[in-house]
Order: sequence, then structure tokens, then C-alpha cells
Amino acid sequence: MGRIRIVKEYQPEIREIEYSEEEFEKKYVLLCDNYSMGEDADLVIVQPQAAEEMLEYIGWGTRTQENRVEQGGFLVGRNCYDKKKKQHICLVERALPARGAVGSWGFLEMSHEDTREMHRELDQINADCPEEKKMDVVGWFHTHANALDVFMSATDRGTQSRLFSGERAIAMVLNPYRKIWKCYRSGSCEDTKAELLISDQTFQKFGKKRLVNHGFGFGGKKFGSELPNLPLLTQQVRQERGKDED
Ligand SMILES: [Zn+2]
Repeated sequence: MGRIRIVKEYQPEIREIEYSEEEFEKKYVLLCDNYSMGEDADLVIVQPQAAEEMLEYIGWGTRTQENRVEQGGFLVGRNCYDKKKKQHICLVERALPARGAVGSWGFLEMSHEDTREMHRELDQINADCPEEKKMDVVGWFHTHANALDVFMSATDRGTQSRLFSGERAIAMVLNPYRKIWKCYRSGSCEDTKAELLISDQTFQKFGKKRLVNHGFGFGGKKFGSELPNLPLLTQQVRQERGKDED
């Protein structure tokens, strides 16, 4: 359950792009656990740097002192629209942890100071970006600790509708022990397709075991104790996407 104390609502600008998957080919990908529930018109792509920052911060696949309680932060990137595919694509380029936020077993509170700190970090990132690459806050992420399932609690929904009520604003809920995560969008928390892109480097660092769990579900298909290789974006995901379009 995450609460963020802040005055303004986030309404990131939408840019028109033709999104090319080429630059992300040969990346490993982890689909969110509510992937099959999402509409094709919206896709969230967490790029390798953001994926690593987020997974590292929340101690994905491990038990740490820090991740015994809830953790979270902002997701920054660009909201794009691909006219050809008629698809809204949210490119999450960086994850900014709220390092000072106070988490408990069932609650996370981000203060004004935490959000100011994340904005300072975003300003620094943007200072080095050309105009068309400048990033906005596109949503937020937080963890549910221990055995708790991933879902939008009443508190989470309240946060979402106050701060991220825009159609494209996203929320991610992750459980680092259980290695499950879901993505939601808009003030009404619609299930949304999301992909975590894992670079070779991150893949080496985390290894297959830290990245996927025994009940690893891929596109709605569950695998048993035999762990499959993490699928590459170019092959299986395209197939799965194709199936969804049928
Ligand atoms: Zn929550």
C-alpha cells in the first residue's frame, strides 16, 4: 500500500513517435503477471536501465534488510503514441527510488521531501538530455513485502486517483520475494501490458534464478519447476503478442 504526499497531479505530455523495436532486440524480457488482461492499445516498456535500477533497489529475488518492508519510487520516461500501430507506448527509462521513504510491512509513505528529492534527480537527468529526450514522471512503483500478493489496495487506488489519474499514468506493484509484478494504468487502475527488458549485463548479474520464479508465468502460460530460459523479445514475445491479437 503506497501513499505519496504531494500537491500536484502528474499529467505527462504525449509525443508522437514511431516506435521501433529494433534497438531492443536480443534483450531478455519479463512480462508482468497481468499481461494477458491488458488491452493491446497500451504497452509499457521498462527499458534495461530502469529495469535494473528498480530490480536492484527492491532486491528482486533476494531477502534483504531493506526489502522486508515496502519500497517504492517514481518511474520516469516518455509517453509516446505510435500512429501506425495505434498503440500508446509508455517508455520507462529510469526508476528513481524514494530512498528516504518510510516503509512498513504493509505500508509505504513518500513525503514531500522524498518527492522533491526524486524531482531533483530527474532535473539532473534532464539537464543532459536533448529536448526530445527529456523525461517526465510517467508513474510510480512500489513493493508488497513478504507473502502479500500484488494488487492495487484501497490506499494505492487513492494515491493513483489523486496523483496519476491521467489515462496514461502507470502504477507498478512488485513482490521481490515471490517475483511477481503487475502493471496498472489510469485513475481507474486498468490492467496494463508491461515488459521489463533485461540487458545481457543485468541477466548475468541476476541470473535466471533471481529473475524468474517456479510458477513463472509467461503470457498466461505457467511453467513447472523446470525453469525455461528467459524468452528473448524478438521471438516468444512477438508470438505471444500475435496470439493476443487473434
Ligand atoms: Zn500497495
